[in-house]
Amino acid sequence: MAKKKAVAKTLTYTRANGYEKLPPAELKKLEALCASYLAFLGAAKTEREAHDDAVKLLLAAGFQNLDSLILKKTALKPGDKVYRSCAGKTLLAAILGRRPLEQGLHIVGGHTDSPRLDVKQNPLYESGEMALLDTHYYGGIKKYQWVAMPLALHGVFIKPDGKKITITIGEEPGDPVFCITDLLPHLGQDQMKKSLADGVEGENLDVLVGSVPSKNKVAKEKIKHRVLELLQERYGVTEADFLSAELEFVPAGQPREAGFDRSLILGYGQDDRVCAFAALQALLDVPGTPEYTSCVLLCDKEEIGSVGATGMYSNFFENTVSEMLGLCGGTYSELVLKRGLNNSWMLSADVNAAFDPLFAGVSEKKNAALLNQGTCLTKFTGSRGKSGASDANAEFVAQVRRIFARAGVAWQAGELGKVDQGGGGTIAYLMARYGMEVLDCGVALLSMHAPWEVAGKFDVYMTYKGYLAFLKDGRGQA
Ligand code: MN
Ligand code: MN
Repeated sequence: MAKKKAVAKTLTYTRANGYEKLPPAELKKLEALCASYLAFLGAAKTEREAHDDAVKLLLAAGFQNLDSLILKKTALKPGDKVYRSCAGKTLLAAILGRRPLEQGLHIVGGHTDSPRLDVKQNPLYESGEMALLDTHYYGGIKKYQWVAMPLALHGVFIKPDGKKITITIGEEPGDPVFCITDLLPHLGQDQMKKSLADGVEGENLDVLVGSVPSKNKVAKEKIKHRVLELLQERYGVTEADFLSAELEFVPAGQPREAGFDRSLILGYGQDDRVCAFAALQALLDVPGTPEYTSCVLLCDKEEIGSVGATGMYSNFFENTVSEMLGLCGGTYSELVLKRGLNNSWMLSADVNAAFDPLFAGVSEKKNAALLNQGTCLTKFTGSRGKSGASDANAEFVAQVRRIFARAGVAWQAGELGKVDQGGGGTIAYLMARYGMEVLDCGVALLSMHAPWEVAGKFDVYMTYKGYLAFLKDGRGQA
């Protein structure tokens, strides 16, 4: 009997809650990492803010701006730490490895943009004794979730002379906040008959920003005018400056620990700043000179299809690797670049959906990621018959299994919903174009894309640990 049991144990793959095997020393590290994560998440609520905070951390850790090295034609050598910015939104950081770039990089790439409400270019109007700002939602949101809650405004005005005015309103304790009004249930009978998709219309996601009239005698719309007076006084901007602004309404307030046991994190923008943070922290913690060049990519525009100059579709990544190659000595050759990209390994650092007992029907439980079971490897994404999928090669999944097993990384396999339920994608397929090995790996969230998303601390910690082990890995040769 006893013998049979032992055989069964080795033959069976079982899943377990990660806390059960977590030694106290690891728990301490987990809490310390999650405290840093909470601080980062609370401070970086837009792609620009995440970029700027990341650059500060990189500079403090001795990373150098690649653009200045290019200007000075400074040669790069193993162990050198560099970063490069794309328009202050997308960021690449790397530690040059012992092996030449031609042999490939180890890349962890995620994104720092999150669903939100962007202020339109001609947004301000007055109606019903109120001033409002018109918005256009960004990314996949459920519109009904964004009304009747405090919103903060983050972003920049850029003047025609290039001057940048950065604003953040609604995050400090004494700050005012903003909101979008919703209909009272007493008058909501028609609205309540509509579908959740139509109950709140995108064009009606207009934010209430003022209600006091200006004392100006000639102004026609006095409440709107008062808002413009305040913007002029405080920020030196006029109504025309909205034309060259990028202003984002995001949920106001700080991320918090959640649950009696404080094991969860409730916060805005964890898709995908949880993976972005874990990737950045992992890079900062790579000891010495890695065997292969360690590279972290924090991308913009993932939530709208990775398009545009700052999205993963652009040539920024490829161009930056070219620039690094150009500084690595020898004659620059496109063939070497192509080999380097083809030989690279990548973890596409993005979130997946955790199994939610309140919506159990959308998942197939044994293949869904579960809370606290570790970082989630998603072999394939896409929808329907794996359409649009980035499907990692089993050989590469096996390599990642090897790396994670050696480093004691708790991980689980996950998929985005049961078959034919829906689906999604990440930047993985854009990197797979180069022929490199790519596998999606990140934290499984609850309430993904909601104003407040939920992550398990254990999963955050294991994602960091997984990225670090991956960056450090020498492919069995070191
Ligand atoms: Mn994402
Ligand atoms: Mn997303």
